[in-house]
Amino acid sequence: MSVPLLAQVSRSPVAPRRELVQAVVKEAYEKFRTDPNGKNADYIPYLAQVDSKLFGIAVVTTDNQVFTLGDVNYTFSIQSISKVFTLALAMEQLGPDKVFEKIGSEPTGRAFNSPLAVVDMATHTGNPFVNAGAIATTSLISGRDAEDKWNKILGFYSKAAGEKLALIDEVYKSEAATNTGNKALAMLLAKYGRIYADPFESVDIYTKQCSVGVDAIQLARMGATLANNGVNPATGEQVIQREDIPHVLSTMMMAGLYDGSGGWAWHVGLPAKSGVGGGIVAIVPGKGAIVVFAPPLDEAGNSVKAQEVIEYVANKLDFNLYSPASVGLK
Ligand code: GLN
Repeated sequence: MSVPLLAQVSRSPVAPRRELVQAVVKEAYEKFRTDPNGKNADYIPYLAQVDSKLFGIAVVTTDNQVFTLGDVNYTFSIQSISKVFTLALAMEQLGPDKVFEKIGSEPTGRAFNSPLAVVDMATHTGNPFVNAGAIATTSLISGRDAEDKWNKILGFYSKAAGEKLALIDEVYKSEAATNTGNKALAMLLAKYGRIYADPFESVDIYTKQCSVGVDAIQLARMGATLANNGVNPATGEQVIQREDIPHVLSTMMMAGLYDGSGGWAWHVGLPAKSGVGGGIVAIVPGKGAIVVFAPPLDEAGNSVKAQEVIEYVANKLDFNLYSPASVGLK
């Protein structure tokens, strides 16, 4: 039977079937809904008072099917998940080789905000997803002034989400009033010549990028853009350069869950990124993205329920990239 050409190109040949995804997502939601483990981040005062029972799951596929369950319209702060998209913007502006040279991509094996890693590691920056490397990555973004750089970052995130995103002002104020640790990291980077704009200006822009509000659906669309070779599946816009996608995803695999990344790769085998706001986005290249939002975190700063749900769904649907079953070999 012949299929019209348009249908062939607009539907992903590998995106999972609707009924299957829906059923598995529902199972995972019921199974982990009452897990009492974990604790909200409290070093940023605003995050401590977010309702810890909030729980939402959103899946967006590369052919723009959307599956949701639970609190998917609640706007939470993107936090460290922002680092993924600032990395993509830095590569667009400077090219991947320059970004690799200026930042590097080695796991630190330490907490995400560790000053020891800055001192110990040959690159000092470590990788774009620990705070030091992320602040340095933000410092690479060019613009006329701080305002212009910030607008470029917010505009880029918005294109990936397919709609206009905004700062959650209360989160920004709360974090800006307490981010002495990040300022210390920036000064330490300056000592080693590994920050590329004014250190405090860079921390401020970085704090703003972490305070961007997203709901689970918007974040899943940002993730699906990565899964879809940089093309937003809802708007059809090429947001992220195709050639940069493997660099982003490999970095997510090695450092997306900080010092929980090795265990995550072992159990789940998907590039993912967490934020202390309670979100995790996992990318299934070519197929789509899974986002879970649930504020209580483990010791490493990763949402407990989000890890459980994504592991469950990935195993049930053969998403683990290291399993030949992920490409159909049974
Ligand atoms: N804004 C947070 C910080 O700088 C981001 C950390 C995170 O989400 N892991 O500490």
